[in-house]
Amino acid sequence: MTHSADRASAAGHGLAHQDILSVNQFNTDMLGAIFALTDEMRSTVRASGGCDLLRHHVLTCLFYEPSTRTSASFIAAMERLGGSVIPITQGVQYSSVAKGESLPDTIRTVEQYSDAIVLRHPEVGSARVAAEAASKPVINAGDGAGEHPTQALLDLYTIHNELGTLDGLHIAMVGDLRFGRTVHSLTRLLLQYDVKLTFVSPEILRLPLDLMNAVRDAGLPVRETYSVADVIGDVDVLYVTRVQKERFTDLAQYDEAKGFYNITPDLMRDAKSRMVVMHPLPRVGEISDAVDTDPRAAYFRQMENGMFIRMALLAAVLGKA
Ligand code: ASP
Repeated sequence: MTHSADRASAAGHGLAHQDILSVNQFNTDMLGAIFALTDEMRSTVRASGGCDLLRHHVLTCLFYEPSTRTSASFIAAMERLGGSVIPITQGVQYSSVAKGESLPDTIRTVEQYSDAIVLRHPEVGSARVAAEAASKPVINAGDGAGEHPTQALLDLYTIHNELGTLDGLHIAMVGDLRFGRTVHSLTRLLLQYDVKLTFVSPEILRLPLDLMNAVRDAGLPVRETYSVADVIGDVDVLYVTRVQKERFTDLAQYDEAKGFYNITPDLMRDAKSRMVVMHPLPRVGEISDAVDTDPRAAYFRQMENGMFIRMALLAAVLGKA
């Protein structure tokens, strides 16, 4: 369905019967509408656990890469809205994919049984390929080191929810800025706001040049550093990521880059009293467990927001909200 996804209507969320492939398809009006719908989903879950908005609707979750949060939250979202899910996830090796079936053929097959498809795939651009083959909405749940738009939406929603605003914030992204697709998508979304950005990484994990150029073209104040201690006292959001081991062709390089950062209670002593630490998870040592009880640690609240955002997105693309 790619033909219309990039020019979704500016009125409301504009997502009815659309694909969600990249954050580039969202403007601030659409984001406001999606966040309002997400608030409603949160209230519905809090009040009664869910509703029947998507009754008799079926979602296929096709995951060619491991996932815990994204797949679980899409399944929970669909079920809380009264719909059901065909999960083709860790078992993808038992499906026809393992027999050499092409992605377009798999997509054309699963859309016969479902109303929308959520796809995670190791190749950049795979979601677009799937969307071209599909006549039902395709939602990109991560295409290699490319994008992870629904994660960026839940990240942005979390920042807004935690701090009450986006404009005027100083946001630091820490860790694997080169391969971290959540960083890529969130950075692109933030270009629409009046924020200050700091990118914190070792040399080999710096933000890709095209993205850095996009930040500069947007006219936002930006700097790069390798030291969290440099920025911890000034940031409103510390967005921490793991080093993406699976994207390295040379594991010696991974070994060199891993373990570079560890956010500890000691480091948090220098942070503002009103700020948040976020992480798309899984963490593999970047944030010490002792930080979890700090009220500024927002990463588990962030995960719950993932379910509310995905409820809103499913209702929207299926034309029900
Ligand atoms: N869960 C996120 C993703 O799928 C972050 C990560 O894996 O590091 O991109």
